[in-house]
Amino acid sequence: MSDRLPGFSTLAVHAGAQPDPTTGARATPIYQTTSFVFNDADHAASLFGLQAFGNIYTRIGNPTNAVLEERVAALEGGTAALAVASGHAAQVVVLQQLLQPGDEFIAARKLYGGSINQFTHAFKSFGWNVVWADSDDIASFERAITPRTKAIFIESIANPGGSITDIEAISTVARKAGVPLIVDNTLASPYLIRPIDHGADIVVHSLTKFLGGHGNSLGGIIVDAGTFDWSAGGKYPMLSEPRPEYHGIRLQETFGNFAFAIACRVLGLRDLGPALSPFNAFMILTGIETLPLRMQKHCDNAKAVAEFLAGHPAVASVSYAGLASDKYNQLARKYAPKGAGAVFTFSLKGGYDAGVSLVSKLQLFSHLANVGDTRSLVIHPASTTHSQLDDAAKVKSGAGPDVVRLSIGIEDKEDLIADLEQALGA
Ligand SMILES: *Cc1c(COP(=O)(O)O)cnc(C)c1O
Repeated sequence: MSDRLPGFSTLAVHAGAQPDPTTGARATPIYQTTSFVFNDADHAASLFGLQAFGNIYTRIGNPTNAVLEERVAALEGGTAALAVASGHAAQVVVLQQLLQPGDEFIAARKLYGGSINQFTHAFKSFGWNVVWADSDDIASFERAITPRTKAIFIESIANPGGSITDIEAISTVARKAGVPLIVDNTLASPYLIRPIDHGADIVVHSLTKFLGGHGNSLGGIIVDAGTFDWSAGGKYPMLSEPRPEYHGIRLQETFGNFAFAIACRVLGLRDLGPALSPFNAFMILTGIETLPLRMQKHCDNAKAVAEFLAGHPAVASVSYAGLASDKYNQLARKYAPKGAGAVFTFSLKGGYDAGVSLVSKLQLFSHLANVGDTRSLVIHPASTTHSQLDDAAKVKSGAGPDVVRLSIGIEDKEDLIADLEQALGA
């Protein structure tokens, strides 16, 4: 092999994987086992004391999951990753390493509806307080910083409207405040945007969406950029102070630029328990092999559908950053030059009733609460994912009563447009 660095598509197929050393199996085997035999008593003790790396028990790590972790870390340009059971589990595990009860984190208001719920209600019961900011107003992040702020959380391409976040501008605010920037990169995938290249310290994903890509397996992942100094300022005791769980070792001192991924595994996943099934890891790994092909088709189809909708008389507006006229088009050109993703919203002149009616008339589009499937999907957020918000909050998060959200699949674009045409026209 020459010493050139492999490209993205090559990494998507190969990173982290090698033929199975005992059987020669070329696809990564599903290591469907709960536990792993130790060589001897010393080996067991060194694994438990974090003096050696190796497999103990699948709640803490599994060889199939390890291939997935190495692959996504390579695609995102991070130092290490940790796979967990879902995107929401990734968010809990990340924040558990950063926040003590009474601490705060700042989150962009434009977020996946489930994240708004998780941050507002579940995290509040842990004593973690979310402070909302507006990603269209970078100064609102600066104003929200207090001595108790421990992290900033944004989405690269934000739900539900597909708006593009100025990651570099927000990373500057985070750097100045001495807190890590966490980017949920689910809607972009590393094929479109690599947040670490723009200053993110931690990347999280719902693997359930574009990375797995086929609507068949839940999963989540945390990627450590290896860039943040956890010891500066004494704000992150989980990483910088001696851990009583592991004979007093300090994780940053011991593990350096992948200490955060280790903390998530040995303090988060070990104790909270949201382990990813190796079967799901296998399904998601298989999906990732075709990520570049799928993602490009998703984006090309989405642009064609958005252009069709923008010209339709029943449509009031289309919010897709890939359209030249869109408010986020400049940011899309900068951060996502290959395409602005495949999840976006549009609003109907007929309001709430027209939204409900459209969803019921579509035939090829599936009406369901997911995104990032090979199949095209539709949902009316105001009556479903965002129904718990009051009207003002719905509008603020891009889910007003007249708004319909699409996740464009990889079918033939002519068929998608024909389905929308019949449903809008009838
Ligand atoms: C789906 C989703 C999540 C939550 O992921 P799950 O795998 O469903 O737990 C988080 N963020 C975004 C942007 C999502 O689309």
